[in-house]
Amino acid sequence: MTAALDELLKRSQSRSNQMIEHLKSHGVEHKELLELMAALPRHEFVEPAFSHLAYSPTPLPIGRNQTISQPLTVAKMTSWLLKYARLGRVLEVGTGSGYQTCLLAHFFNKVHTIERQKSLYVQAQARLKSMSINNVEFLHGDGHLGWPQKVEMDAIIVTAMASKVPTALTDMLKEDGILIMPIADAVPAIGCWRRHGNKWKRLESAVAQFVPLLEGKIDA
Ligand code: SAH
Repeated sequence: MTAALDELLKRSQSRSNQMIEHLKSHGVEHKELLELMAALPRHEFVEPAFSHLAYSPTPLPIGRNQTISQPLTVAKMTSWLLKYARLGRVLEVGTGSGYQTCLLAHFFNKVHTIERQKSLYVQAQARLKSMSINNVEFLHGDGHLGWPQKVEMDAIIVTAMASKVPTALTDMLKEDGILIMPIADAVPAIGCWRRHGNKWKRLESAVAQFVPLLEGKIDA
C-alpha cells in the first residue's frame, strides 16, 4: 500500500472513531449498533464532494437535493427501534442513500424500503447489492400509499417530514407495532409511538430537521 493511501485510510478510521465517541457522549449505548456504525463506510453514501465530512455531526447532501441525517439522528432513531420494536419486518419510507436501510437490514429479518426518486432508488439498490445485503426489498414509489402488497409491519420508519402520518402507513402497522416519523409541528421533532388499536402511545421524541415527505414519484 502506498504511504498516501495508508494515510488516507488512517484518517477516515480516526474520523469514524470520533463519530462513535460523539454518539456515546450523547447517550447512544447499544454496542452492536455502535460497532456497525463504526464499520459502515459512511463516506460512500454521501455526495463525493462531501465525503471528507461524512463522519461529522452534520446532515450532508446525497444527490437530487436530498440529505442524509447527521449520525446522531440516525443512531437515535435506530436505537428506539432496537429498544421497542419486534425485529421482524420493517418498512422504511425514504430510502435516500440507503445508509439507514443498511442499519435496518442488519437488525431486522426483512426490510421493505420506498423511494420516490428513481435515480436514488437505483443507486441505493446497487450499493446494497454490492455489499451483499439481500434481505431488502426496494420500491420506486410514493410512501404515502404504503407497501403495495398487504404485509403487516412490526415497525415503520419514515425519514422525511410531514405534518401528519399517512393513514396508508398506519394501516400496515401491527398491533403493538412501532412508528418513527419526523413531524412538522411548531417545533419540528421526530416521534416514536407504539400502536394500541386506534390509540398511539408516544414513547420518545427529539427535535430534528428533515427534508419534506413529498407526493408522487419522480422518474429521474
Ligand atoms: N434514510 C435516508 C435519508 C434520505 S432523505 C438515508 O439514510 O440516506 C429522505 C428521502 O425521502 C429522500 O431521498 C426523498 O426523495 C425521499 N422521499 C420524500 N418523500 C417521499 C415519499 N412520499 N415516498 C418515498 N420517498 C420519499
